[in-house]
Amino acid sequence: MDKASGNIVPMVASNGARPVIDLVAENEEILRRYKALLRSIRGQRTVEETRLVRKAFNIAVEAHKTQRRKTGEPYIYHPIAVARICAEEIGLGATSVAAALLHDTVEDTDITLDDVKDLFGPTVANIIDGLTKISGMQFQTGSAQAENFRKVLLTLAQDVRVILIKLADRLHNMRTLGSMARDKQLKIASETSYLYAPLAHRLGLYNIKSELEDLSLKYTEPEIYEEISAKLKKGEAVRKRFISRFIVPIREALQEEEFPFVIKGRPKSVFSIYKKMLKKNVSFEEVYDVFAIRIIIKTKPELEKADCWKVYSIVTDYYQPNPDRLRDWVSIPKANGYESLHTTVMSPGGKWVEVQIRSERMDEIAEMGLAAHYRYKDDEEHATALDAWLSRIRDVLDDPTSDALDFVNDFKLDLFSDEIVVFTPNGEMRNLPSKATALDFAYDIHTQVGRQCIGAKVNHKLVPLSQPLRSGDQIEIITSKKQLPKEDWLNYVVTAKARQRIKQSLRDQKKKLAVVGREAVQLQLRTWGAKVNAPNIETLVEYFRSNSAMDLYYQIARGKHVLETVEGVSIKAGKLILPKRKRADDERSLEEVVAEIRGDQQGALLIGDDLKKIDYKLSSCCNPIAGDDVFGFITLDEGIKIHRVNCPNAVQLMSNYAYRIVKARWKGKDTVEFLAGIKFSGIDDVGLVNKITTIISHEHNVNMRAISFESHDGIFEGKVMAFVHDTDHLNSLMDKLKRVRGVRSVERVDQ
Ligand code: MN
Repeated sequence: MDKASGNIVPMVASNGARPVIDLVAENEEILRRYKALLRSIRGQRTVEETRLVRKAFNIAVEAHKTQRRKTGEPYIYHPIAVARICAEEIGLGATSVAAALLHDTVEDTDITLDDVKDLFGPTVANIIDGLTKISGMQFQTGSAQAENFRKVLLTLAQDVRVILIKLADRLHNMRTLGSMARDKQLKIASETSYLYAPLAHRLGLYNIKSELEDLSLKYTEPEIYEEISAKLKKGEAVRKRFISRFIVPIREALQEEEFPFVIKGRPKSVFSIYKKMLKKNVSFEEVYDVFAIRIIIKTKPELEKADCWKVYSIVTDYYQPNPDRLRDWVSIPKANGYESLHTTVMSPGGKWVEVQIRSERMDEIAEMGLAAHYRYKDDEEHATALDAWLSRIRDVLDDPTSDALDFVNDFKLDLFSDEIVVFTPNGEMRNLPSKATALDFAYDIHTQVGRQCIGAKVNHKLVPLSQPLRSGDQIEIITSKKQLPKEDWLNYVVTAKARQRIKQSLRDQKKKLAVVGREAVQLQLRTWGAKVNAPNIETLVEYFRSNSAMDLYYQIARGKHVLETVEGVSIKAGKLILPKRKRADDERSLEEVVAEIRGDQQGALLIGDDLKKIDYKLSSCCNPIAGDDVFGFITLDEGIKIHRVNCPNAVQLMSNYAYRIVKARWKGKDTVEFLAGIKFSGIDDVGLVNKITTIISHEHNVNMRAISFESHDGIFEGKVMAFVHDTDHLNSLMDKLKRVRGVRSVERVDQ
């Protein structure tokens, strides 16, 4: 089971009452679900495979028979559902289905890993072991989540099925998240959008990725989610009419060419629409590509590419393409295996429409990602792209000294970014994330090449290291033996590998510098007449509050501390004695702060005037006001910071520092006023500014802190920072502003 979901409950209710359950009907339902699972496994199953799945099913049913899910359903529904996702939505085979059925047995039942090994052999046992380790990893150290993620990737590099089953497990937990407590929902949803959705994306599991993102949004931003999905639903009929009209000429032409094909019109995911709204700062109505048209052709492997282009030429015979928006992943697939030809064309109604063209095989890869590669076993070329990516992961993971949290952040850059394709001087192709620089390329070739890189020639022209590359560039790296990686190189690179390797080099350089510092320390100790020994060095470490002797040496070599100026030194029998330096408040350890807060309060942190003794601040990144859904984040030097649950930083905080999160809610009415930002835009009109300021300051009796207006080409945009009592107050003010004639949009902003 996923530890985070904690959705296991004993069969007997805690009050001892036995719920009335029709066990016969339930057993029938379990069997029905099992049969549906069997049917969902693709292709021909051998007798052994069927036997394997049945055996796994029988053992899982027996092992979980006393457990129920939070919903009251038999627990076995969960492993069956996870196994079915593996078969149906990821296209995995019998071994994975068996492992999915057993995935929670070792962690949650009496079955041991040895039992699994005896019964099912080493392959299934290894998968279960991987899955058990991943979920057992949480809440252990400071950056437990990050460490956890690293573990996930380590296992991934060994047997990809572990992560695929884990994703299926997470997907089912997300689909059934409704029965969990709100704080758990938030935590699981954040972790999902932070770790699992990007991972699904990287593995090419587009459908699963979109569903994970949508479900996360549903729990973190329920109102926004409902609003967008309601609008999508409302527009469905119009969209269908539009699509059927749009494809008429294409359909006819394709039929004439005798291409067997399917055309689908698919709406984009709620999450991707929301992301676009945020990124372009537009309303739902202004997002023009809420759906894409997909043409899937049946064709012979050797004709795939030519046929895709043939369809492209038919489409663009009827509709004018936008030359800037042609994406050819047919000639060069993405590193995660995605192949497709995308173009955006102008429809008769004056709307841009994205058209995706691909073969059936490409479509299956796009939907099922990685696993599909394994089914096309003879598909050498694409297996190589995947292997290259996996070996890149192993490369990064190779560095055992790197900080886990750092690692995740570096790695996420790789997970999220799009790709470019560049070439070596010999014409060898390399995939890199977009925005990668010449320096990234150098490190991609070899660590040594990166370390000694002094410049590059891009398409035969000399460019600096920091030059961002573009698809199609041919790069030659210029090296020098004298070169050493610099601190600011970290600003020039986007790949995890380059970042990790540069940090490693900087650490090595630091070690060298520390040798100089150590000599200085030893010399000074002798000058004072003190012994050069560990206790005396420790005294200095404490005095300067360095993290370690190594740190102290480095700081001294860099001139951060000066030994000669230390006052009040005395020596007793070679022992160095230094005066105590008063410890400032802000140097309390995190543990001390946490203990203090934890000891002070049960349950949620109440924010209000009676809680003055707890030092909290409203964070300035999202400016929470009374009534907002909030949480507290324990900081080292500023007490607790209150963030909105939908703060742009919340996801990262919640998933990386779960142990520093405290529940928080507002208590009662407060006389305090909160600073909130409102942004509005509309048609520029004489007197409009006046009207708005009047509403804010007089009618609503609100104090403004700042107001700004900008106007160009008849459109004005304005922002006001004003003091309000709570969300009700803010909403009523915004409603009033919306009703002003000429005002087109009014929205809350964080800063
Ligand atoms: Mn599970």
